[in-house]
Order: sequence, then structure tokens, then C-alpha cells
Amino acid sequence: MDFVQEAVFLGVDVLVLGLCFREYYQLKKISKALKDAPQLAIDDTLTDRLRKSGNKINYGVIRGTVTPIGNPMHAVMSPSVTGVLQIMKLNEHRVARGFAGFWAEQRKLIHISCNEVPFKLASGKLGVEVVDGLSAEILDMDTVYDNYEPSSLSLFDHIFGFFSGVRQKGMQTTEEVLRDGSFITAVGELELDGDSVRLQPSTVAPMFLTTATKNTLVKKFEEAKNSMLFKVIVCGTISAVLVGLIAKKIYRRKKMEWEEQKLRDKLDKSRLQRRVQARQQVFSDEQRCVVCVDNPKEVICLPCGHVCLCENCAQKIKLNCPVCRSKIETKAAAFIT
Ligand SMILES: [Zn+2]
Ligand SMILES: [Zn+2]
Repeated sequence: MDFVQEAVFLGVDVLVLGLCFREYYQLKKISKALKDAPQLAIDDTLTDRLRKSGNKINYGVIRGTVTPIGNPMHAVMSPSVTGVLQIMKLNEHRVARGFAGFWAEQRKLIHISCNEVPFKLASGKLGVEVVDGLSAEILDMDTVYDNYEPSSLSLFDHIFGFFSGVRQKGMQTTEEVLRDGSFITAVGELELDGDSVRLQPSTVAPMFLTTATKNTLVKKFEEAKNSMLFKVIVCGTISAVLVGLIAKKIYRRKKMEWEEQKLRDKLDKSRLQRRVQARQQVFSDEQRCVVCVDNPKEVICLPCGHVCLCENCAQKIKLNCPVCRSKIETKAAAFIT
């Protein structure tokens, strides 16, 4: 196989193409859902609008001020900050020996803890409760604490790290909070329950809680979609070129084989013709081919060594010697003078 390299590249490229295409499809879906999502004001018209749509809008956009229902929570690391969602992360920074033997910096999440208190997005006296805010795909929160502590490594740790391929550099603790009073955009499923409205994760597209406006969000997803489409086109072109190269190589090899076969046939034919011309017209019965008993013996079967066939019969008999029945490995033209 002289196209193994191309086949391996093609395999990798098709895999990347598949991943890019899936990502592109997702981005396209989200982008379309966002464009189609109505932007609704949090006022008296909202409940009417929901009632008209069968108490539910699958994907809608609202904007309002984060307001806790009840008491807000206090940030753990800076208690003066209050909010409604909180995420604490403990990350280990380390250098690890990578695939090619190089040391590269890595960040590994060691621990994550999340907390939430019920909250709503309010505008005036009215508000929409946000359910399951932590599951939002884009969740813009403020980092209220960020501390990095370098590790002090002993000589043993260094030696151990060299052999194990992982060396710790330090630990980073961060705390993020969605503060009460911040003005955000929420995108998700809107549902009317009695007189109250809530926003929750949708089945159409992911939920977002972001400081960006709807237009900015749409633009962001459009840009991501277009850059992914570009990757799909590049990967697709590479695949097409590789397929072309492989096909060309296969065609060339087949063509060579056909030409070789043609040449071989031509040579056999001309030898046969020369034989026919050179055949003595008069020869004894012992000199005749054992199969057709007409032409002279002209071919030797190997390894048994029996000269028993004429050229014409030798083309038909391929397996066993007609005299001793032993297996024919090869045949050669024999010239008896
Ligand atoms: Zn014969
Ligand atoms: Zn034989």
C-alpha cells in the first residue's frame, strides 16, 4: 500500500471534519433560535402574551434586574458582596509532560461548589423567576475572589515530578457571584404558572444569563458559526484532495498492472506463434504432448521435471502434472534439440 500516509491523514481529517460539522450544526441551531426568540418586556403585557401562546414561549429573551426572592447569600471570601448564584472553584496549576515530551502548563479542576438562592429578574414591581440559573450555558458572573498560592516543592517532589511527568505549581481559588442588583439578559423557556411567570432551561436551545444584549449574543453566535463553517470548508477541501490523491495512486497502480498483463499476454502470444512456426512437421509419438497427443512436448513442469505438455495445453493445465499428479509450482518453456 503506497498510500498509507494519505489514508491516515484522511482518517484524521474526516474525524476533525465530523466534529467541526457537528459544532457548526449546533451553532447554527442556537443562532437561529436566538434570532427567532422574541424579546419581551417584563410588564403587564407579558402575561397576556404568554396566555395567547398557550402559557408557554419555548425560547424568549427578557431583561431585568437580579432581585433575590427572600434573602440574598453572602460571598464566602468577601462577605460584603451579596448575590444569588455562587460558584467556588479550586484549580491546580501544574506542568505536565505532554505527548511529544514537552512540558506544558495545565490547569486541573480539583473541586467545584455551587450555591443558589431563588431570584427573579425584575422591572418595576413585576418580576420573572429564574429557575435553575446555574445550568445556563453562558453565565456572566463577577469574580469576587481570586487567589493563587504557589506550591513549595521539596527536592523529592522535583525528582518524583520528573519521573511521573507531573509537577504541581500552585493552587488557585476563585469565587464568582451573580450579584443582586445587576442588570442582565436572560434567554430560555418562559412559562406562565397561575399569575407568575418563570424562565427555565429550554429544549430548543441552551439557556443564557448574560450581561450582553440579544443583538450582541446573536452576533457572537453568527461569528462563531461562520468561523466554524470556514473550518468545515477547509477540512472538506483537504478530504477531497486526499481522496483525489488516493484515487490517482490506485488508478496508476491498476494501469501499470493492466499494462504489465498486456505485455505478458503479447509475449506469450508471440512465443506461441514462433513455436507453431518452428514445430517440426514430423515427430514420433513419444514426442507428442500427453494431453492433446498432437503438438510436440514443449513445456517442463517444475519441480517434478516432466516435459509432457505443449504450449497450448500448458495454458489450460495449471494444478497437477498430468504424468505424476504432483503439484505444479511453476512451468518453463523447454527446448529439446
Ligand atoms: Zn498438448
Ligand atoms: Zn510430473
